[in-house]
Parts: sequence; structure tokens; C-alpha cells
Amino acid sequence: MPRYAFRSNKPKVKEGDVLKLPPPAEPPARTSRRIGMHTSASGGVPNAAERAYRLGCNTFQMFSSSPRQWAQAVVQPAQCGEIQRLREKYDLHPLVIHTNYLVNLASQNEAFLKQSIEAFRGEIERALQVKADYLVLHPGSFRGADREQGLLRTSAAIAASSTGLDLVAGGLTILIENTAGAEFSLGASFDQVAEVLDRLRGLVPIGACIDTCHTHVAGYDIVSDKGFRQTLAELDATVGLKNVRVWHCNDAKAARGSKLDRHQHVGKGTIGLEPFRRLLNHPKLKHCAFIAETPIDEPGDDRRNVETLKSLVTS
Ligand SMILES: [Zn+2]
Ligand SMILES: [Zn+2]
Repeated sequence: MPRYAFRSNKPKVKEGDVLKLPPPAEPPARTSRRIGMHTSASGGVPNAAERAYRLGCNTFQMFSSSPRQWAQAVVQPAQCGEIQRLREKYDLHPLVIHTNYLVNLASQNEAFLKQSIEAFRGEIERALQVKADYLVLHPGSFRGADREQGLLRTSAAIAASSTGLDLVAGGLTILIENTAGAEFSLGASFDQVAEVLDRLRGLVPIGACIDTCHTHVAGYDIVSDKGFRQTLAELDATVGLKNVRVWHCNDAKAARGSKLDRHQHVGKGTIGLEPFRRLLNHPKLKHCAFIAETPIDEPGDDRRNVETLKSLVTS
């Protein structure tokens, strides 16, 4: 099970919920890019949209259910209408949903796989209900098998989870996220992400979400200018830059190649500001959403990370 540094083991009281502060007097300044944050849906999914707006975002990511429980939330029709109303009012596009962390579609345990498929089907159903654009999924853990079997199983399980659901009509695309490459985790290389995409093309709308922290700790060089260009060229040759729809913009606490997934504030970690500047201004990535999943150590850290990303946009 991968560990996630954002919004974990931090006392809630320190977050300084932006909903408890007065709303901004004027709409926050925008850039030419879609930049946002993973925001809390506490109190109902419309609150995630309101929080995103108040943090200065024009896109956002949220969970549609508790990220560490199997019990699935029910999204009320009134909440679906309200989140759409807020997204239109504030121009919040796209809406990205991150899948529950318990789901492992590569599991070799039949009962666990069945539970994962049911949970992922629930994720797709809720994403369609709230009219999300993207549903991000980690490809899973292949413990007990080999990597190739794991990739086959994940691809088959994604197809099985979506049987009978019309993602095309709902405007929903599933995004496979690259991972940090801890033991048995699939998706640490762009090749593996591309393999899942290739197997699902034509079955469900599919693309990729690339996380800067995961890319860096998995061993890719995005820090040096030359390394960044080579890494992007490799991403283009495998996944295809046009298939990358979301970038998770997280700096890293751990070293390149360490496989340790610990997110850090943008510009404050082992990646530094420059690679984020290159990403945000890359001419072939204009179509992407750039979303931070950075820790909240002090009240306002969420707003500061969004502001940092926005300040790097030059075009
Ligand atoms: Zn991570
Ligand atoms: Zn991520």
C-alpha cells in the first residue's frame, strides 16, 4: 500500500479551513493555465468547489468518498446540482476525482480484487453523478504475481468495473497515475503506465496523470535542464504528452531514486522551483491541469502552494 504524504497524519485544527474565513472580496487572479489543489470535500462535495475558489484555483481535485474506508458515500442529487452551479460560477475546470487508496485492481487475492472492483465501480458512478472530467487511479500492487500479470489484471479490472457505464456520454476519462515505485507497486515507469493505456484504448476513455514527486523519486531526472527534456521526451514516446491530462505538482522530501513518496511544498524540496516553471510553461502541456497535493503544515500552506504555481506561469 503506497503511503501518501498529503493531508495525512496532520492535526486537522492546523489546516485553517478556508471556509471559516471571510470569502475573498474580489475573485482571485487567474493565469493562462489551469492550476489547483486537492481540496477537502468535508461537509459535502460542493464545499470542495467553494474551498478551491477561495484558495485561488481554477481547477481542483477531491475525493468523492472517504479515502481510507470501503463504505461508499452517497452523493445527493442536490449536491450534484450545487457543485455544478459553483463550478460554472467560479469557472472551475476540470474537476478531478482521486480514487480511494484501498482499491487495488491488481490484487492477486480474489476476494480483495472483487471488493476493489466494486469500490472502483462506485468511484466511476459518483464521478459520473458529479460530472467530473477525470478519475485518477493508481495502477495497484502486484504482490504475489509478476509485474506483467499485475498490469494485465489491472487493465481487465478497470474494464470490468466500467461495464455498462457510459463514460463517453458522461464526459469522464480515467487517468492512470504513475507511482513512486515502492515494492510491488505498478506504474513507476512511463512504460507501465503506457501499457495500461494501450490495453484499455477503445474500451474506456483513458489517459494519464503524472506526479512530479513520484517521477523524481522513481528515478527520472526532471531537475537538470537536460534531464527534464529527456524525461519529457521519454514520456512523449511512451504515454504521449497529449494523453497526459493532469500533472500532480508536488515537490519531494526524499532524494531522486529513493522510491519514498513524501510530498513537499512546491519549490521547497529536492525538486525545487525550476522544473515546475518548465512544466507550467511547456507549449505541449497547455491542455493539462496542474494540481498540488502538498502537505498542510501551517494554516495557509494550501493557498501559498497554489500562489507559487501561479507565479511561475510566464506566458
Ligand atoms: Zn504521492
Ligand atoms: Zn499524486
